[in-house]
Amino acid sequence: MKKKFGEKSRNMTFLGMTALMSAASLVFNSCNDKTDVKESAQIISQEHPTVQTVPQIDDESVETDKRIIYLTFDDGPNQGTENLLKILNKRNVCATAFLVGKHAYGSKRQKDDLELLKSNPLIELANHSFTHAHNKYTDFYKNADAVVRDFDIAKDSLKLYDKIARTPGRNIWRLNNINVTDIKGSTDAANGLRKAGYKVIGWDLEWRPSQKMTLKGSHEAMIKKVDSIFLNDLEKTSRHLVFLTHDQYLRDADSINELDMFIEKLQKSNKFVFRKISQYPKINDILN
Ligand SMILES: [Zn+2]
Repeated sequence: MKKKFGEKSRNMTFLGMTALMSAASLVFNSCNDKTDVKESAQIISQEHPTVQTVPQIDDESVETDKRIIYLTFDDGPNQGTENLLKILNKRNVCATAFLVGKHAYGSKRQKDDLELLKSNPLIELANHSFTHAHNKYTDFYKNADAVVRDFDIAKDSLKLYDKIARTPGRNIWRLNNINVTDIKGSTDAANGLRKAGYKVIGWDLEWRPSQKMTLKGSHEAMIKKVDSIFLNDLEKTSRHLVFLTHDQYLRDADSINELDMFIEKLQKSNKFVFRKISQYPKINDILN
């Protein structure tokens, strides 16, 4: 028997209660614990590295019938970043932007968009390299030291607080308790990042693009995939799902609407809460 959402039938029965809980979850969704997290993150980075830090959010802080979704958006600042921010603001939902360092220097608009991302309390910034491997991934990952340097340059130029990173073109995980490399030729580089103190996080589900670089398929289909991952225990950490898409797929009205509807329906289902990536289980543990 596969696992299922424990409270699904109860929610169906007590519709009035569900409505009340939806109102409460809107507050929950907004991740208004941002200040605490930022302050804690700064404290962590200043403390002695030998001090074991406790993750701010663990399973006990979320009702057992809820699943946790981490919305993450790669390759910003980019075309679509402003549309993304409009959706997140409208839905009052938090997310993580995995930034490409050089994109912040691509144009005046991208520079301005970086400031918009930095100043938005719903957004957490993380490292997606400086060069994005120049989109030549196989060569990039052959030189582990150069990969680490590339992430260091992005960290410095974007003034990122911590070392949460996502590898360009690769779904790689290097946390204390998760070690996954999708393409083995990247193993040395991934280990190098880990050794340099980067917490490398991939994704459980990607909303991929069409050939026109718009969001492919409907929000209904994507919600089914979310449900399917949880029902079949396919997420890396039980009850936690890292969702990925890209700013630049959000340039047309249909894609904008689809992402908006996706988030709205997830919120209204009352089955999910949303978190920034620094709240992923054990991500703040000191690497050993
Ligand atoms: Zn990317």
